[in-house]
Amino acid sequence: MQKTLVMKFGGTSVGSADALSKVIQIITDTKKDWERIVVVTSAMAGVTNLLLDSAASAARGKLDALPATEATLREKHFVAAQQLIPDEALRKQTLAEIDEFIVTLVDLCKAIAILGEASPRVLDAVASLGERMSVRLLTAVVKNAGISAQRVEATELIVTNANYQSAHPDFKATAEKVKARLNPLLGAQIIPITTGFIGATPEGSITTLGRGGSDYSAAIIGQALQAHDVWIWTDVDGIMTTDPRIVPEAQTLPEVTYHEVAELAYYGAKVLHPKTIRPVVEAGIGLRICNTFNPSHPGTRLIANSPIAGDIGKALRAVTAIRKQRLMTIEGRGMLGVPGVAARAFGAVASTKTSVPLITQASSEQSICFAIPSESAACVLAALQEAFANEIADEDIDHIWMTEDVSIITVVGVGMRHIPGVAGQVFSQLGKHQANVLAIAQGSSEVSISMVVTAEDTDLAVRALHELIIQQSSPNLIPSS
Ligand code: ADP
Ligand code: ASP
Ligand code: MG
Repeated sequence: MQKTLVMKFGGTSVGSADALSKVIQIITDTKKDWERIVVVTSAMAGVTNLLLDSAASAARGKLDALPATEATLREKHFVAAQQLIPDEALRKQTLAEIDEFIVTLVDLCKAIAILGEASPRVLDAVASLGERMSVRLLTAVVKNAGISAQRVEATELIVTNANYQSAHPDFKATAEKVKARLNPLLGAQIIPITTGFIGATPEGSITTLGRGGSDYSAAIIGQALQAHDVWIWTDVDGIMTTDPRIVPEAQTLPEVTYHEVAELAYYGAKVLHPKTIRPVVEAGIGLRICNTFNPSHPGTRLIANSPIAGDIGKALRAVTAIRKQRLMTIEGRGMLGVPGVAARAFGAVASTKTSVPLITQASSEQSICFAIPSESAACVLAALQEAFANEIADEDIDHIWMTEDVSIITVVGVGMRHIPGVAGQVFSQLGKHQANVLAIAQGSSEVSISMVVTAEDTDLAVRALHELIIQQSSPNLIPSS
C-alpha cells in the first residue's frame, strides 16, 4: 500500500508570506518521499482570537472595533496573497472569496449585537471563518507554486455532534466521508488541502472541535486514511522541556511516550492539542512535531511506553503551566456525615459544563478542593451554593470559597514511577526558590505531579523546576532498579 502522510500547519506556520513560502518548500520536499499527502491548515496566527473577540464585543453591543478588525483581516491575507500569488486571476478570485468571509463576519457581529448574545452555534460560525479564509490562501499559494492541489472543506469530511465549541466527531461517519472524498484526489496525485478545527453536524451546521483543535483534525483524518504518519508543523523544535517562551533555554525532547505527551498536553503544553493522541495511538500512526522555521530539525517523535534510550535516569522530563485557574474549596466539619458530597459537588460543577483539571481531598473528609478555569468561577460558585443550600443552612458546610487566580504547574516523566524521592526533590526545589505551593495532586499513572501556585509565582516555579530537569544528573535521581 502507498504510504500516506498528513501534515498540519499551525497558525504561525501560515501566518505570513514568509511562513507560507516555507510551507511551500516543505510540501515540495516532502513530495519526494511520500506518494499521498494531505495538508490541514489552521487560521493565520491571531485570526481566531480576533474573530472571537469581535463576537464577544458585539454581544456587549460594541461594534466600534469592527472596522479595524476588518482592515487587519484584509491586510493579513491580502499582503500574503500579493507576494505569493503572481497569477492575477487566481489572486483576484482568492481575495474576493476571502473578502466574502470578512463581510460575513461583519454581518454576524451585527446580528449578535442586535440579539445581545452569541450562542455557541453562532460563535462556531464566527470562529470557523479563520480557517475558511486561510485554506483559500494556502491552496492558491500552493497551486501557484505549480503543485497539484485542491481545497476541501472540512465540513465535507468531519461529522460531529452538535456540542458547539467542543464538538465530538462521529468517527465512523467521518472515516467514510474522508475516504470517499480524499482517496480519489490522492490517487490522482492531487494534494487535498483542508481546514483544521472545523466540522459539521449531520444536518450541515458548522461546528468546531475546540481551541487549538486543528491538531486533532489532522489526527482524525490520519486515522480515517490509515496514514503512516501525522506531522504537526509548528513554530518550535518539537515538544520541549518547557515552554520556550518562559524559559528560552528549553530543550527539545527527541522522543516522548504516549503517557507523557497526554499529561503534557492536558496540563498546558499548547504545542499539541490533548485530543490528538487517541486517534493516532488507536490507529498505530506515527506522530511527529516539527518546526516550519527549522525544517531540518527532527523535532519530537511519539513513542510507545518503552524506556527512552539515553534518557533513562531522567525522572523529570518536562514542566508545564496552566494559568488563570481558581481553587475552589468546600469546607465543614459536618461534611463527614453528609453522604455523596463529592458526587454532588462535581455534579454541580458538571452542570455548568466546566471541567476540573485537578482535585485534592484531605482524608479527613472535612474539605474538598479542586481547580477550575477562572472564567467559569462565578458560575461554578453559584451552582455549588445552590446544590448545598440545605447543608449551608444546617451549618454542615461552613464555607464554599475560592482563591484569586492561580496556576497549575505539572512536572512530567515516565521515569518517575521507578525513582523514589522525586516528589521530595520537586518540593525542595520550589521551597529553595520560595515558590509557595497551595495544593498538590499526583496522577494515578505516576507520570506527573501537579502543584498549584499563585499567579505571581508561576514563571518562578516553572524556571525552578526546569532547572531541576536540566540538572538531573544528581545521584538521587538515578533509577532505583
Ligand atoms: P500552532 O499555531 O502551530 O498550533 P501553538 O501556539 O498552538 O502553535 O503551539 C506552539 C506553542 O506552544 C509554542 O510556540 C510554545 O510557546 C508553546 N509551548 C508550550 N509548552 C511547550 C512545550 N513543552 N514544548 C514546546 N512548545 C510549547
Ligand atoms: N485556529 C484555531 C485556534 O486558534 C485552531 C488551531 O489553530 O488549531 O484555536
Ligand atoms: Mg496549536
